[in-house]
Amino acid sequence: MNHITVNRLTRHFGRQAAVDDVSFQIESGKLIGLLGPSGGGKTTILRMLAGLEQPDSGEIRFHGRRVNEAPPQERGIGFVFQNYALFKHMSVYDNIAFGLTLRKKARKEIAARVEELIELTGLSGLGKRLPHQLSGGQRQRVAFARAIAPEPQLLLLDEPFAAIDAKVRKELRTWLKEMIDRVKITTIFVTHDQEEAVEVADEIMVINQGKLEQKGTPWEIYKEPQSPFVAAFIGESSVVDDVSRLKGFEMGAPGSKGMIRPEFIDITKEGEPAYSSAADRGLVRSLYFRGTSWQVEVETGSHRLLAYRSLEQPAVAVGEEVGVLIHRIYVFDGETGAMLE
Ligand code: ATP
Repeated sequence: MNHITVNRLTRHFGRQAAVDDVSFQIESGKLIGLLGPSGGGKTTILRMLAGLEQPDSGEIRFHGRRVNEAPPQERGIGFVFQNYALFKHMSVYDNIAFGLTLRKKARKEIAARVEELIELTGLSGLGKRLPHQLSGGQRQRVAFARAIAPEPQLLLLDEPFAAIDAKVRKELRTWLKEMIDRVKITTIFVTHDQEEAVEVADEIMVINQGKLEQKGTPWEIYKEPQSPFVAAFIGESSVVDDVSRLKGFEMGAPGSKGMIRPEFIDITKEGEPAYSSAADRGLVRSLYFRGTSWQVEVETGSHRLLAYRSLEQPAVAVGEEVGVLIHRIYVFDGETGAMLE
């Protein structure tokens, strides 16, 4: 069942459209990543869903009911923001209890719920601590527990891990995914980090310049990008300005743009079986160790391409001539950006 239906949502600031004719649907219980570059309109979409910002036009429905006119407190939403500081002088316990106290719940009921959340979020034994006595990761878990304490139907997270260092950030991502699976609250989180979105989200919405470029599972978005922007933003890729000049790939009208994932290019050394049958030759320009493979930048007669070479294969060297074979390419119309094949 769809929890959220957004229809032709638009919001301008002055003459600039921060959100431009955006429509989408989100199923109940899904974890959705809003991904895109800075200034693309992600936060503005979140704020309109929350009722903190009014759209110029378009409609927002929760479970089929129009909520455009509903004030934020009636929308059943919990928030976690990057810098949504905890109440400094309140203990972990009181921070989590805050929304329940505000709703005048009975003390016993509050105590039971807070204990349950402390346990659920792995904060056992920390209930009496003050925020400054916690690590960054623990603080974000308290913020999460506080947000879900009043049992919101929708959880909005705006760059929740941005201020946290890389290692803890990775742990928190996995933690968040497990948590949402358990509590089953529809959740939308904003990020500009594609790795984070790919790792955590059930579905990703790629937002750029106020437009929704694509919505789909991380795998769909990686495998079938529908615009050059999405292809370039998600995962590594080489941009090819004129596909018709690629050797061994007689496709695409002159001027058609192409994108090639490194996985779709085979680099072979002289003497290897596939070397003689490779459609093109290129010179290795740079090598970058990725931990699990080498990233090889190779220059053919027409283009610079990124490829991977596994660690089990004999290494190639900078300056070496190698065979280049492309298996798959995304072709876009040079003018409109529409995906052709
Ligand atoms: P970031 O990742 O940097 O947070 P974002 O994708 O969340 O970016 P928004 O914050 O939604 O983007 O901003 C979209 C556009 O709208 C930007 O160009 C921004 O400058 C503009 N904008 C946002 N809020 C306001 C405001 N209150 N007044 C004027 N312009 C605004």
